[in-house]
Amino acid sequence: MQKVLLVAHCILNISSKVILYNEEEKRAEESLRRRFLQTAISDGVQLLQLPCPEFTLYGANRWGHVSDQFDNPFFRSHCRRQLEPIMQQVEEYLAHPERFEVLGLLGVDGSPSCGVDYTCRGKWYGSFEGRHDLPKALQSAHCVKGHGIMIDEFSHMLQERGLSEQVPLIGLYAKEPEKCLSLCRKDHEGSL
Ligand code: SF4
Repeated sequence: MQKVLLVAHCILNISSKVILYNEEEKRAEESLRRRFLQTAISDGVQLLQLPCPEFTLYGANRWGHVSDQFDNPFFRSHCRRQLEPIMQQVEEYLAHPERFEVLGLLGVDGSPSCGVDYTCRGKWYGSFEGRHDLPKALQSAHCVKGHGIMIDEFSHMLQERGLSEQVPLIGLYAKEPEKCLSLCRKDHEGSL
């Protein structure tokens, strides 16, 4: 039996991430990402990489965003288009339970796109130039319970196909490391 786990793009490729300036946060996330990957590889878990919806829309020099900015029909439809081929792969794996076990999806908590349990919200919009309330606007960003926009769309796509129960969603989150590590530690005998 092969174990298949869907992972957010930057869990395998951190080059896609927006540039982060909080060194402590960056180190904690990177340390957990490595622990997770070492566990997954040593347990023979197969990793199916999702697309990065932000890199494929805004590129490497994008600003950091909050999920409110992506909560619009255009970004949602971009996510759907990118997720459709992934969803077809999930359906095919689930159609062969004698060969494959889909463990779930690992997102990135705090991300406006890929957060599972937590995402980042705030009242961000408009130009920077000539703005007098910029510090206040930046401070309005905060981490809240809820999905990022791509995970929200993924969740809707699972529901539409009646597959929600079969694909649990979990977020990589440095403050709650056991969540992601437990995904690999499910009964994985014979996974190779
Ligand atoms: S959008 Fe998702 S995949 Fe892309 S960098 Fe952010 S968390 Fe990672």
